[in-house]
Amino acid sequence: MNEEITHLKPSIKGTVILPEDESYDEARSIYNAMIDKKPSFIVKCKDEEDVIDTVNFARKNNLEVSIRSGGHNGAGLALVEKGLVIDLSEMKNIEVDPQTNTAVIGPGNTLKDVDAGTHEFGLALPSGIIGTTGISGITLGGGLGYLSRKGGLTIDNLLECKLVLANGELVTANSETNPDLFWGLRGGGGNFGVVVSFKFKLLEIKNVYAGPMFWPLEKAREAMEFYDQFTKNASHDLYGFFAFLIVPPAEPFPKELWNKNVCGVLWNYTGPIEKAEEVFEPIRNFGPPILDFVSEIPMPALNTMFDALYPPGMQWYWRAHYIKELTPESIKVNVKRGSNISTMHSTTHLYPIDGAVHDVGNEETAWAHRDARWAQVIVGVDPEPAKANEVTKWCKDYFDDLKPHAMGGAYVNFMMEEGQSRIKDSYKGNYERLTKIKAKYDPDNFFHINQNIKPG
Ligand SMILES: Cc1cc2nc3c(=O)[nH]c(=O)nc-3n(C[C@H](O)[C@H](O)[C@H](O)COP(=O)(O)OP(=O)(O)OC[C@H]3O[C@@H](n4cnc5c(N)ncnc54)[C@H](O)[C@@H]3O)c2cc1C
Repeated sequence: MNEEITHLKPSIKGTVILPEDESYDEARSIYNAMIDKKPSFIVKCKDEEDVIDTVNFARKNNLEVSIRSGGHNGAGLALVEKGLVIDLSEMKNIEVDPQTNTAVIGPGNTLKDVDAGTHEFGLALPSGIIGTTGISGITLGGGLGYLSRKGGLTIDNLLECKLVLANGELVTANSETNPDLFWGLRGGGGNFGVVVSFKFKLLEIKNVYAGPMFWPLEKAREAMEFYDQFTKNASHDLYGFFAFLIVPPAEPFPKELWNKNVCGVLWNYTGPIEKAEEVFEPIRNFGPPILDFVSEIPMPALNTMFDALYPPGMQWYWRAHYIKELTPESIKVNVKRGSNISTMHSTTHLYPIDGAVHDVGNEETAWAHRDARWAQVIVGVDPEPAKANEVTKWCKDYFDDLKPHAMGGAYVNFMMEEGQSRIKDSYKGNYERLTKIKAKYDPDNFFHINQNIKPG
């Protein structure tokens, strides 16, 4: 095979990396250091022609392929053992059109890149909560984050994709051209082809009133109840995800809170700044909070607030549920497990799925859980490989305890490799339709290193 690769090398503008190359280990490392896959080829593509050549090369040589953009996928689906990685991380073009409030974004951008590109025009794209996440994977799986209640999922702001299909053809998908494919791409993950370009509409947002607020564990039950009730009827300008966490032992956190297990909310208010104090008055009256860092900040500062705390290269194991309501029983489970977090970096977050996300129906895109109110992720994290088993066990125990109070299925971007029935549960009534689209655009399941939809 190494002989055949000599034919690909001169035809592409990017780089082909082989196991014997010095840059190989760096090129195969991804965000989650628990993943240790050894691909036979990593092709760093420069443009869509490189992607076409690479897809054709892999297909003709019967190679398994994976698609890598930000490399953030917890299950390590960016890499394939002994196969070929189509690496898009160098395709970082961003063109913002301030006349139409839209942007064309290359697949290799991270959320931090996207924020930097849009913020200078006073615009923002609803996406996630950490700057290092790739725009490609988050978009194709759905996209939950600080602007979800205001602007919906990332896919609700997607206008068009250009992608390379398994047969090497470059196609466009939008509401008029290949609308079935466009429907599937909005939640169906990397199942249909290699997306080489995204077009989004953007929100007019520059500064926000945002930051963390903590309460002591003794108040955890009341804090969850208060948060549930208060956000239920709040305007879509107010977003907040609930968390159990251990306060990092570092500035700017006050020393008396270092290493303390607490609960809290990461707020983001996008309404008129002059109204913010008034909106937060009842929130501040609850408790009172033991930490309140909520203030006016630029949107990109919010989106990168945790980047330093969670650098690439740590051990990650996570599991997720869709949650319809917080019942007294589920709150009890959360308080018990959330009060015994295994390591300083481990945490659980309840990401809201209400507000503008509920303005779109479950069948309007492939993303099938808009009737949920939260996607809850339980994350076991530690820098030490020796702690891998401990954080995994904490995560699985928490997940199992919460299962009777969850809806079934999970947000595909928060799943490990958990088997086909979990994938079906995650797409619910949309799975059958997805299998038909898969059969039309990727009948041989060439793209199967993903949360896989089988051709039907
Ligand atoms: C620290 C952290 C924070 C996160 N925060 C959020 C959050 O706030 N909100 C949220 O919704 N999710 C969040 N996620 C989950 C995130 O959405 C997924 O991990 C997602 O897969 C990351 O995208 P990526 O491009 O980095 O993925 P990669 O690991 O590069 O790729 C993962 C998969 O996506 C598909 N894929 C990637 N690029 C393409 C492409 N161009 N064309 C076709 N398929 C492609 C492929 O199937 C690939 O296997 C977070 C993850 C981490 C680790």
